[in-house]
This record gives sequence, C-alpha cells and structure tokens, in this order.
Amino acid sequence: MTDLTHPFPAGTILGYPRIGPRRELKKALEAFWAGRASAEEVEATAADLRRRTRTRLAELGLDTRLPAIPSAFSFYDQVLDAATVLGAVPERFADLVPAEGGLDLAGYSTVARGRGDDLPLEMTKWFDSNYHYLVPEIGPATPFRYASDRPVRELAEGLADGVLTRPVLVGPVTFLALAKAAEGSPEGFLPIDRLADVLPVYAELLRDLARAGATWVQLDEPALVSDSTGVPADRLLAAAAEAYRALATDLPAAERPAILVAAPYGDLREALPVLAGTDVEGLAVDLVRGPVPAGPVPGLESKVLVGGVVDGHNIWRADLDGALGSLESLEGLGARQVAVGTSTSLFHVPHDVEDEPQLDPTLRSWLAFADQKVAEVVTLATGLTEGREAVHAELLAAADARRSRAEAPGVVRPEVRERLAGLAADAFRRGDFEARRVAQAERLQLPALPTTTIGSFPQTPEIRVARAAFGRGELTAEQYEDEMKAEIRRVVELQESIGLDVLVHGEPERNDMVQYFAENLDGFAVTANGWVQSYGSRCTRPSILWGDVSRPAPITVPWTTYTQSLTAKPVKGMLTGPVTILAWSFVRDDQPLSETANQVALALRDEIADLEAAGTAIVQVDEPALRELLPLRADDHDAYLDWSVRSFRLATAGVRPDTQIHTHLCYSEFGEIFGAIDGLDADVTSIEAARSKMEILGDIASEGYPRGIGPGVYDIHSPRVPSEAEVTELLTEAVRVVDPAQLWVNPDCGLKTRRYAEVTPSLEHVLAATRTVRASL
Ligand code: GLN
Ligand code: ZN
Repeated sequence: MTDLTHPFPAGTILGYPRIGPRRELKKALEAFWAGRASAEEVEATAADLRRRTRTRLAELGLDTRLPAIPSAFSFYDQVLDAATVLGAVPERFADLVPAEGGLDLAGYSTVARGRGDDLPLEMTKWFDSNYHYLVPEIGPATPFRYASDRPVRELAEGLADGVLTRPVLVGPVTFLALAKAAEGSPEGFLPIDRLADVLPVYAELLRDLARAGATWVQLDEPALVSDSTGVPADRLLAAAAEAYRALATDLPAAERPAILVAAPYGDLREALPVLAGTDVEGLAVDLVRGPVPAGPVPGLESKVLVGGVVDGHNIWRADLDGALGSLESLEGLGARQVAVGTSTSLFHVPHDVEDEPQLDPTLRSWLAFADQKVAEVVTLATGLTEGREAVHAELLAAADARRSRAEAPGVVRPEVRERLAGLAADAFRRGDFEARRVAQAERLQLPALPTTTIGSFPQTPEIRVARAAFGRGELTAEQYEDEMKAEIRRVVELQESIGLDVLVHGEPERNDMVQYFAENLDGFAVTANGWVQSYGSRCTRPSILWGDVSRPAPITVPWTTYTQSLTAKPVKGMLTGPVTILAWSFVRDDQPLSETANQVALALRDEIADLEAAGTAIVQVDEPALRELLPLRADDHDAYLDWSVRSFRLATAGVRPDTQIHTHLCYSEFGEIFGAIDGLDADVTSIEAARSKMEILGDIASEGYPRGIGPGVYDIHSPRVPSEAEVTELLTEAVRVVDPAQLWVNPDCGLKTRRYAEVTPSLEHVLAATRTVRASL
C-alpha cells in the first residue's frame, strides 16, 4: 500500500453526540413509540440531524474530502446496530426480521424495548462510562447474514452532500465479547466461539462499503482494553489476530476500505503488538487513559496511528501543549502517519458550551463540550503538521484557561483541604458491629424481617409539573414546599396503611439523586442543555464538579424531620454516596478522584451529623455506582476499591452506635467486590435479588457476612405486580439460606419510575408475604 492509496486526515474524532442539541432524536423516537409519529417522520428527523452534524463538523474544520467525519449515528444503540447488520436477534424476535433486509424501525425498537412477555435485550454499562448498551444474545446456532446495509446508506447520504465520511461500527471481537450466551447454550459456550461465523458478514459489509465509495472504516474494539468482558485475555488476543487476518489480509485491500481499529477507554497493553502485527491500516489509541506506548512496535511503520489526546469522556479544555507533546512522542514509534484524535467518541459529552449562557462565564471558559473538542482536534492537527508556531495563539489561550482554573476562587479552598488533612484514622472507623447491633435493636424495636423501601416513591405528573413551575418562577419556594409536603403526607399515609416498618419520605423534591445534591453543595454547577445519552432515548444532565466541595447548609434535614413529625415509625434519612455523586457527574481532573470523593464524603458526614442531632435513627447512603466505576483492568481494582470504600466510611463513620447506617447497591452480581461491600461496614445493605431468585444470598451466607442484608423481593424494573405467593417463595428461600435475624425485606430498587397502580398492590403483597414467613419462624 502506498501513502496515496488511503490518505487519512490529520485530525479526526471517534464519534459525536447523536441525540441532537435539543434532544431531537429522543423526541422523535418517543413520538413514534407513542404512535404520534410515523417511521418516515423519525427517519427524516434522523437524516436531518446527520446532515446538521456533518455540516457543523465541517464548519469546525474537519476535512470533508478525507474521511475525518465519522458516520456514527444510531437510533438507539451501536451494539444493537451491529446485531442488526448481522441479522442476529434472539429467537423470540425472529419474526421481526424480514426474509430480505434487516429490522425496520418498529422491529428494531421492539428488540430494544420488549413486547408483552418477550423481554427486551438486557442493558448493561458500556465500559467505564455511564452509557448502557443492549447485550446481544448469541448461541451456537444464532444465524448470521448481511442483513442491513444501513451503514452503506448513511455513507451515501454524506457523499451526496459532498462529504466523505468514515463509517463506524462495533468491531467483531467487541461485539461477541460483549454478547451473552443465548438461553439454552451448552455449558462453557462463549459467543466469541462464533467469531469465524461473523467475520464473513463483516467482510461482505466492508466490500459493500468500498463499492459505495468508503475509503476508510472504523471498527471499535474497546473490549481489547478491558479485563472485564468475561472472555479470557488470551482468547481475546487470539480473536483480534484472527479477526483482522480475515478482514485485512484475506480480504484484499483493493476490495475494502482501509481499516482503522479504535481502542477507546483504556490501554491496549498486549493487544497493541497483536493489532500492529495485522494488516489493518490504522490504529486509534486512547492517550487520556493510557500512556504513549513504549516502542518500537513491529508493524506500526505501515500504519496510521491516531493519538486520542482529547478527552472524549470529560468536559475540561485540553492541555494543548501537553497533548502536542504526547503526539510528538507518538511520532517516535515510527508509524507511517500520526493523526490527532479524541480518546473516545464524543457522545459522552454535551454538544456545545455556547449553549449554556447561564453558566458562570469564568467556569464556561474552562470547558470544552463536543464542538469545542472538535476545534481542539483541528488546532492540534495544525500544530502537528505545521509546527507549534502555527497554533501559538491557541496554545497560549488554552494555557491561560488552565491557569485561570487553577487560580480561581473556590477551586482550592484551604479550609476544606485542612480539614481533610487533619483527619485521624478513627474518622474512617465505627465501633464494634455487635455493640452497634444491640444498641440499634434496643432503640428501634423492629419486628423480625423488618420491611422498608429503597427511598423513592413514584414521581407523579403532579410532582413534575410543580417542579417545572417552580423552576420557571411560577411557584414561590413556599408554594413548592407546600406541594412537596402534601406529597410526603400522602406517601407516609400509604406506607402506614400498608404496614411498612421503616418509612421514607419518598424523595419527591429530587429531580435526580445526584443533581439534587450537586445543586445544594458548593463546588458544583449544573447545566441547562448538557444532556448526554444514558441509553436509547434516555438522557442525563451530569453536574459539573469543578471546585472543592462543602455544604453551605443542611440539605435533607428539614424534609426528614418533617416526615418524622408525621409518624411514630422510624423514618430513614436518604442520601447519595460520594462514589455515586462522582460517577454521575463530570468531575475535576486536576486531582485524584479519591481526594474529590473524600471532600464529598465530608459534606455528607456533616449532613448525617445534623440528621442524627435532629433525631433521625436510620440514615441510608446509596452507592448504586460503586461497581460501575470499577476499573477495566484487574490490577487497578484494589486501589479503586480502597479509596471508594474509605470515602463511604468517612461519610458514615461519625455516627453513634445506636444510629443505623443503611446502604443500597443496585445490582446482584457483586462477587468480585464482595470484600468491598463488607468493607463499607454498613449496618444494613439492600441489594437487587428478585430477578436472580435470591441466588446471591448463598455467597453472603458462605462468606459469614455478619450484618443486615435486604435482598430485593420485588423486581421494580418491570410494571408486573408480583403475587403474594411469589414473594412468599422468595422470602422462604431467603430465611432458609441466611440467618433470619440478619434479613430485611424490601424492593430491589427505588420506586420513582413506577406508578402507584403497580406499587401499592406490590407492597401489599410484600407485607402479606412477610407476615406469613414471620409466623413460620
Ligand atoms: N434512594 C434511591 C431511590 O430510591 C436509590 C436509587 C438507586 O439506587 N438508583 O430512588
Ligand atoms: Zn437501586
């Protein structure tokens, strides 16, 4: 291959937000699902968004003749898109795939969202981001064929507008590594066993793309930077070698586009020499999460190496000077060409900082959302090709912004730093659990198998309307508070009439369990339009944690004490833990996460102290994101679990022995972090268990876990109302496996996404079942 066969641009991005600056795609899809829009209307909205994206990226300076602009749209999810191309849908949805061609929008939506008893594809976290992908189900007999040519059509759409894009797809190794074995697969079967069967389909697609005019294609292979996919490391490496031999060597270069294998989210380590040894024409490496690799790497001399120096994961302006330095070191590896890139797709960040006029201008000057990051890539590309002098002014401006950030009031607050530095070891330790257990039992006087909920009750349309009206200034603070109090009274009455033992206020005042705290703590800012896709049409608006954190005033105390004034039953105070607050915000990158977590923990510690002083006997600190921040590489786990557990303990260890600390974790498969859960030292831990039928309890019992445990007995993720008999069965199993003295009874998670029509009977059944099982003890 000569340099001229497949010219690659000097700068590119791995992907761009697809939901639209005003969430246009979300609105169109939801209208379609509600029957208010036709598939053609959604297609038109999507085509318009794609065109606006291409135009915008060209305006920002990405090349339109060389394939700098990725064609990386998705209606719902990129992993489902790959499954759609491969025609690989589970058996239960086979009727949706036509004999010719792929799923239409309705079918695609059904696979993503389910229908009746046909459950949708499961959803799980995409690497260490807050995005959730749909998990393909692949069995030994799942048929694969080239079913959908959507990537080809989207390429053609760009070409018709005079823009040569670079189609982006999830690569074959990652697709199979992220899939789960379809139900009924034999013991030991792994979807990656089917690699040889998917490669011909990828090959066919590549040929088709080449015929349609694609010069480069991007295959995303983040599975190669992770130890957590469930595929053994040596299998992954062998799969990478096999896949790219088939696609790059066996498929002649003249019949396909040049292949860029992208490895976002981490460091390729042993996979780098493997990929470098294949005939793919380009590699994109993440230099934000990983170092510049040590050379020499045989095989790189014939490849384009894209250095992902602009962070696709966070919203701070880049250190352009440092980034240029990394790119220059990358040139030392001897690749055919070094190009500038983002570390990941930009779909983890909002569109445009200019769209946040209400943000403090100083803070705004430190930020780069997707569009600003594209400009950074373009600047770096000029710097790399024409020399630093050519971008002198931009480098200075970036350095100024960073200096302004380092020196701004609030970023470093000596009183916060001194307090943290002055903490003694016992700030992280509570007294002996047995003594706590006795003191709490004495104070709380709860029955066997105490019943409670995870915190939130349904967010009704009325609550949302009131919050929106308050936001627009149409309700005074007092009127808003009155509405929330009325809601709290209803929730307390309901819980009392159902007969729950430990009550909650229901969290009506919280828009979101992280943003609510961000709005009430110093050191955070919230955006107006900073939406990022969480899954499908769902978006979140992460807060920006920019400075040292402290708590100007009590946050939850008035709501909790008001609630307690309405009932003689104990009311649980409800807080979000430090790790979850970090995980669901954009966090500062100028100090270790552990430091930031401890600052948040101290603010929570003060809140808990105030709750305790106001008479609250139980405080729950939710850490649903504890597992999700677990690093992708196994050798990084211990350090992470150490600081994350410490921050939880710092938040909670200041209480008296007779104050009961609860925590809630949103998942069931926590075998690998069992030690950490034990380390949290919470008096009671509630977990998800209904879907796995209490499976988890066996591990807990065999580990000799001494503290309280609340396995979820009601799956709140579906509108189904569990029958009394079902719950009785789950509870009977629970008391068989675990000492009943440790057991609590609760749903799997918060109830905010459910309706009262489901919640009320479900909780009634839970209570009835509890009475039955109590009587049997
Ligand atoms: N207390 C929160 C609620 O009930 C917990 C939610 C969560 O774990 N994601 O909504
Ligand atoms: Zn939960």
